[in-house]
Amino acid sequence: MELFTPCAMLRMFDFFFLKWEFLMKRSFLYYVLAITAIIALAFFRACRASGVEMHNYCTKFRSLEEFIAFTPKTAEEIRECTKRYAQGAHEAVAAVIAVPDGERTFENTVTVFDVVVEGSNFAHLAYWVYLLEVTHPDATMREAAHEAYSACNKFLIDHVQQNRDLFRALKAYAQGNGLHEQLDAEQRYFLRETLGAFERAGLDLPDKQRAQVGTLKKELADLVSSYTRNMASDVRKVVVERREELEGLSDAFVDSVQRDDDGRYLLSVDSPTSITVLEECAVEETRKRMFISFYNRANPSNEQVLRDMIATRDALAKLLGYASFAAYDIADQMAKTPEGAEALIREIIERAQPKEDEVFATLKTDLPPSVSLTSEGKLNAWDIRFAAAHYRRTHLALNEQEIAEYFPLEKTIEKIFSVFGNFLGVAFAPVSAEGLWHEEVRAFELRDDEEGTVLGYLMLDLFPRPHKYSHMAAQLGFVSPMKRDGERTPGFSVILGNFTRPQADGPALMKREEVWAFCHELGHAMHSLLSACSLASHSGINACQRDFVEVPSQTFEQWFWEREVLKSISSHVQTGDPLPDHMIDRIIAGKQFGEGYNICRQGCMSLYSLELFSGNHDPEQLLRKLYAEHKRHEQPCDEDRMYLSFSQLAGYGSKYYSYFWSEVIAHDLFAQMKKAGLTNREEGKRFISTVLGRGTSADPNDFVHAYLGRDSDKDAFLKAKGLI
Ligand SMILES: [Zn+2]
Repeated sequence: MELFTPCAMLRMFDFFFLKWEFLMKRSFLYYVLAITAIIALAFFRACRASGVEMHNYCTKFRSLEEFIAFTPKTAEEIRECTKRYAQGAHEAVAAVIAVPDGERTFENTVTVFDVVVEGSNFAHLAYWVYLLEVTHPDATMREAAHEAYSACNKFLIDHVQQNRDLFRALKAYAQGNGLHEQLDAEQRYFLRETLGAFERAGLDLPDKQRAQVGTLKKELADLVSSYTRNMASDVRKVVVERREELEGLSDAFVDSVQRDDDGRYLLSVDSPTSITVLEECAVEETRKRMFISFYNRANPSNEQVLRDMIATRDALAKLLGYASFAAYDIADQMAKTPEGAEALIREIIERAQPKEDEVFATLKTDLPPSVSLTSEGKLNAWDIRFAAAHYRRTHLALNEQEIAEYFPLEKTIEKIFSVFGNFLGVAFAPVSAEGLWHEEVRAFELRDDEEGTVLGYLMLDLFPRPHKYSHMAAQLGFVSPMKRDGERTPGFSVILGNFTRPQADGPALMKREEVWAFCHELGHAMHSLLSACSLASHSGINACQRDFVEVPSQTFEQWFWEREVLKSISSHVQTGDPLPDHMIDRIIAGKQFGEGYNICRQGCMSLYSLELFSGNHDPEQLLRKLYAEHKRHEQPCDEDRMYLSFSQLAGYGSKYYSYFWSEVIAHDLFAQMKKAGLTNREEGKRFISTVLGRGTSADPNDFVHAYLGRDSDKDAFLKAKGLI
């Protein structure tokens, strides 16, 4: 059963998805020189006056080494770079505005805007400091990164998102020379979407309201950042006095637990530790304490932050003419309305409820001794994982620890790279990661397997540590690839994980859900690194509709359930043997065990995020209301404050439903992929050309249609879940 959502795509901005990409220095120079001599002169004068040189505005990275050289290494450098790069971006915006309307072209107006928001040094820095804020071991660096990220957001709001002169410049082009200039479909789409985003940001509003929007946006950016930071900063421990209180947990696990001077066990409240304790510890009190601690992370620090976030988003939506934040938040998504999203979620929950009934009826046939039912015949929330794991061990013969022995982390990742690489026609090679934020970070170069072209760089930071982003896994692309004028430049992406650390006597062993989560995040990374478009804003995936962005990742995670794939990526830690058939049989047979519960639980969380931002504004009351409606077999814990560490509330807003929405499409795509063959490189290329490689250059419905040859439907999803 999945208690923790495996992915939280890091998202930088709350409304106008300014995704940034870099552009070549010479291209930038070309754009600047293309505008009038007077404007160019003024621009260069401004550069000289401020001491900013052109190369400080945008840089082209051909290798990881070049990118590492670009990144600030001290808190002072972070502050200095933030100031310098913001100045460069500011001057470029001024240059766009200054072009006389009669001389506007796509290149000197729209493309320069595209570079400003996606391709500048300033843009790269903003992504980078966001990453440092949630990963860097040094508190001074994290603090400087937080301040820089906050400053970047404020700059973007003031000088880009709320810049009416910039909006007017783009509009003047669209309604003037843009009507006559020969544009391709991607350029037309970008222009239309950009103007739409400005309008959604309130640029058509009168001055007073527009200023209010700007203020609210800044407050919101800080609240989102604080919410995530408070989660990462929560380093609470569950203190256990005696070994007997950890009964059921392996010696290897217990030996790896930190102890204090009095010999007490200090259990970390991170994902792998809490999952292990909740699944394997035979002492109810320990499970209960871990459950409560896990769902009280960032309590109380996020209590007011969340309430302020809800109020700020509500005020913002009303100001922009929407009935609620959810209505505003979903208007530009595939679902279009909260009602459309909710209808899908409720339909899926309804279809899954009989399966959920079956799950609990099955669990109750053989509960372990430390689990007892409530007077209403329900299972306590902290017992569900343990009861399910016990049932698996006893009846499905799925011993998670035994399975984990087939997934030593290093080899498993190498094999996963090979399997996906074979399908997509790409190869991964390790490269030096020296100079990155932590000694445990590893880096890989991604190349086209046939042509040898460098496509991008993938960094892995996979183990938990204090003050690091605490979700199981996430992906962040901080420089997207580009394909312009026949030249391709590489993208840069990172997968953050909180996977099980190596234990005292051997290498790190990945649990099944960690392997599955890695496949998911790698799907994001491949989408990010393979989507090279001619416009910076269309490259990479950070500007994707939230209800589409999970489609490739969820498509790739389906591979994990295929017999041949499981054989290919497994190798026993001692013998090197792949998973034997009888274990694979049990894994596949057990696939649907617990699905009814998982779907209803995820559905409940989806409804939570939709309703929290649709009018049901009290987080605690809403949680109790939805638990009362949907927890038909589980006794919720009164001390559960999951909303204080529900990271998607910050990053996804009302769009947690997007996991289901995307999953429906992902199953459809995977069914086609499987039919064509998972080792069929031609099919992989077709998937890149129709979906992965398109970035955000058109409506994602078009990508899906192009790959399937039809619109997507629910059949493959319902079949895969055993619901039809
Ligand atoms: Zn994801």
